[in-house]
Amino acid sequence: MAADKKAVVTIDGPSGAGKSTISRMLAARLGYTYLDTGAMYRAVGLHVRRREIDPEDAEALEAGLDELAIELLPVGDDDVRVLLNGEDVSAMVRSAEMGLVASQISAYPQVRRKLTELQRSVAATGALVAEGRDMGTVVFPDALHKFYLDATPEERARRRCEQLRLRGENPDPQEILGQIIKRDHADSSRALAPLRPADNAVIVDSSVMGPEAVVEYMLANIKGFAMLGEK
Ligand code: C5P
Repeated sequence: MAADKKAVVTIDGPSGAGKSTISRMLAARLGYTYLDTGAMYRAVGLHVRRREIDPEDAEALEAGLDELAIELLPVGDDDVRVLLNGEDVSAMVRSAEMGLVASQISAYPQVRRKLTELQRSVAATGALVAEGRDMGTVVFPDALHKFYLDATPEERARRRCEQLRLRGENPDPQEILGQIIKRDHADSSRALAPLRPADNAVIVDSSVMGPEAVVEYMLANIKGFAMLGEK
């Protein structure tokens, strides 16, 4: 099923580049729904963990996926609740551990197939800003506006430490940097839907621009493109 070309803006990039913040802001500015596909992979990771499914066991994984329902419920202007079989798991799926589990299970074709279908079905219901790793390359190859948001690993680690400190934790910066490099490597070296910019994606480096400036830049890009189309 092809999504409406005009109705999807894709934002891909590595963890910690600011995709969530930017995608939420951009979706609010455009009046589009924000689609957090990382949350979907995290919810699958939580389900696999809870059911103690061995992802190497293809049959068990398939059966586990069959009994899985994931919903993303918009809350207010720019927040989303993640429901796993009706249970609100929003806080649980945000942990660093679930990020690593999500990264592991995201390499399995059955998981990617299931979530790709789900993501396309959400796009069929209305305009989206879709955030993830393979939005522009695999899930919505026909999207008219594709962005790849990047930042240096050091800057991403610095932001992550800041977030954790705000939560009252005391992170080890070297350990956080190590986790980021490990996840980047896993996400970009996997055989299936590896993390990479789509050929026609606009690459934006958030190490040198604040969130407001990034969103303005993206909006200018989207409007500029629309004006070109009208000529
Ligand atoms: O973006 P977030 O950190 O929440 O994603 C968690 C993990 O889910 C990523 O490290 C990646 O392995 C996987 N993922 C993916 N494809 C997406 C979104 C997330 O493989 N579209």
